[in-house]
Amino acid sequence: MTHLDTRPLSSPSSQAQLLHEAADRATRYLDTLDERPVGVSPEARARLAEFEEPMPSGPSDPAEVLALLDEIGSPAAIASAGGRYFGFVIGGALPVTVAANWLAAAWDQNAAVSTLSPIGAALELTAQRWLLELFGLPAESAAAFVTGDTMANVSALAAARYAVLDRVGWNVERDGLFGAPPVTVVVGDEVHVSVTKALGLLGFGRERVIRVPVDDQGRMQPGPISLPDGPAIICTQVGNVNSGASDDVGEICNWAHEAGAWVHVDGAFGLWAAAAPARAHLVPGVTRADSWATDGHKWLNVPYDCGVVIVRDEAALRGAMSFDAAYLPTLAQREPRLYSPDMSRRARGIEVWAALKALGRSGVAELVDRCCRHAARFAEGLTDAGFEVLNQVELNQVLVSFGTPEQTNQVITAVQAEGTCWCGGTVWQGRTAMRISVSSWATTEDDVERSLAAIVEVARRVKGDDGTAGL
Ligand SMILES: *Cc1c(COP(=O)(O)O)cnc(C)c1O
Repeated sequence: MTHLDTRPLSSPSSQAQLLHEAADRATRYLDTLDERPVGVSPEARARLAEFEEPMPSGPSDPAEVLALLDEIGSPAAIASAGGRYFGFVIGGALPVTVAANWLAAAWDQNAAVSTLSPIGAALELTAQRWLLELFGLPAESAAAFVTGDTMANVSALAAARYAVLDRVGWNVERDGLFGAPPVTVVVGDEVHVSVTKALGLLGFGRERVIRVPVDDQGRMQPGPISLPDGPAIICTQVGNVNSGASDDVGEICNWAHEAGAWVHVDGAFGLWAAAAPARAHLVPGVTRADSWATDGHKWLNVPYDCGVVIVRDEAALRGAMSFDAAYLPTLAQREPRLYSPDMSRRARGIEVWAALKALGRSGVAELVDRCCRHAARFAEGLTDAGFEVLNQVELNQVLVSFGTPEQTNQVITAVQAEGTCWCGGTVWQGRTAMRISVSSWATTEDDVERSLAAIVEVARRVKGDDGTAGL
């Protein structure tokens, strides 16, 4: 099984052999995903202790390093690349994006500056333009690829902070927040913790916000919020991490823009509804906002890590991120470093380009729509089996209760141990629930039926409804 390569490292064939072997091991891993439990077995977890060795005093054979990684590492990986992982909101990775990722890793490009990576800069610009077209966002918007939606929120809110203070004559990048005119920040009561964290990192304070009550799906209640005079930022959300529901961003823009406020959208996965004509009505008016944060590694199914920040006013994102002066004229070429919080970074837009090129507009729409159909089937099957679905299943999220909080938690633990699929728990508006998020290209109808059958069987066993005593 292990092919020890004893040739010197500098030999080109040893490099080729190593890469081929990595490809063999990776394909073997992916090919066996369907047969293995989705979770990690206690035995596989226990073997991770073998990595706890002292720092090696000298070199090891690279082929042996790879073999160790595969033999101990692969069984200890959660099978989230397969079709039956429904925990958190986790996409898989489209095969073309894994392949592009390997090629790009071999290129080892630094995407900070276009002279460092002409290919990285070119593909990222194209991928950004395509994303704007796909979501129907203003073509003049600026975008940047970041590690995830959290950093996209940080980046967008940094642009918002720059812009709303600039409008009242305060240069926050130069002079900081001490002594600055106060900025009012509004969030919905169901704001994602990543936005809250972003507000803290930016000096706005995690708690120094106006919280707007939400409805039973987690949407901000409609109607204007009375804002004090002065700069203001309204943080909206499309795609509640539990229910999948979205704020009415258009309605919020009506009163917020009237009041001169900046409207930001956290759309980690929900923004992708805008890319599927059959689901776009779920994110009304989303294109009217001032900034958007989303993920590539969730619904677009590119490898980790990949988030995208988009800001309508290019000067605002550049004002917050560039490390020349913000008043410099617009550059003909959008230098990546002027728009992102990082300097050196990997060219993660390459996998986004590969996904969009391979799927096309219709492929993205079908991917999004298919996941929503799968979620609807889960809701239908669980309801038919007598369990209570707690949310309106319109996007890709399903919340189900199996009775008391204790019973629901027991079912979640048993589903995870049974291994056909993996679902996590949550508390939705005071109710303990199992959360099913369908976000992967790899999920088939068969995966849904197998998972549904397993969940129902496990739940009945745990609750003792199958004639046994229950667990
Ligand atoms: C996943 C998610 C985030 C955080 O995204 P990361 O990519 O993990 O940083 C923020 N907001 C919402 C609504 C999410 O679903």
